[in-house]
Amino acid sequence: MAIFSAGLTDVGLVRRHNEDNYFLDDGLGLFVVADGLGGHAAGEVASKIVVDEISRYIRQSTTTTETTTLVDYDEKLSVNGNLLKTAIVLSDKAITADIATHSERETMGSTVVACLINGKSVTMAHVGDSRAYKLSKDEIKQVTNDHSWVAQQVSNGFLTIEEARVHPFRNVITQALGNSVDLEIEIGEFEIADFEAILLCSDGLTGMVDDEEILKIYSQASNLHDAVRSLVSKALENGGEDNVSVVLAKHNLP
Ligand code: CA
Repeated sequence: MAIFSAGLTDVGLVRRHNEDNYFLDDGLGLFVVADGLGGHAAGEVASKIVVDEISRYIRQSTTTTETTTLVDYDEKLSVNGNLLKTAIVLSDKAITADIATHSERETMGSTVVACLINGKSVTMAHVGDSRAYKLSKDEIKQVTNDHSWVAQQVSNGFLTIEEARVHPFRNVITQALGNSVDLEIEIGEFEIADFEAILLCSDGLTGMVDDEEILKIYSQASNLHDAVRSLVSKALENGGEDNVSVVLAKHNLP
């Protein structure tokens, strides 16, 4: 079952630098979005380290005969779940290693949302507030929980989703790669149907375009490339306050 994908990133209308990075490889079934933190020449380095390290590790462990090391093997997870978890742990260590030799980047970090698609099986892993959704022409479902202060307030019933989207603390995340003490990588495993797509995005999309609008744009798009362009355009049209990155992956072209 062949996978098709499309991805796009844009600096937005307010920021001077794009600190997001994304990666897609239909052959590996690997898709990643990372949103860097720490300012120019730091955030963009961190998110680049994340996508490079994850893709390097997944490629090496799935396409070569080299021995693969799994970190903190978790028997409750599939092989792909363990691979993705290890890849993210290694990307966290790579950021820390980079900081050790570049003190000017000591505050850098990154979110990540990464997925491995193998047939109908999807393994999703994330840290921070970059999101994944399952999408069809008439339904959108968020499949990651933001590691953010506002998301905690929503789950505790102190804020509504609408209040969270405009809250002054909406950019405060509770988990990030790099400079983190207790890194918690959240991993989900589920199936997708042929007609469903996976959307990965940075908060530059979800902060500007709500779920209903995302669904409407996706369902009206003629193909995945058209969909990612239209989603980024809508984020800019709605203010473009942050860097915006969108990746869509699906089994068959619509
Ligand atoms: Ca962002």
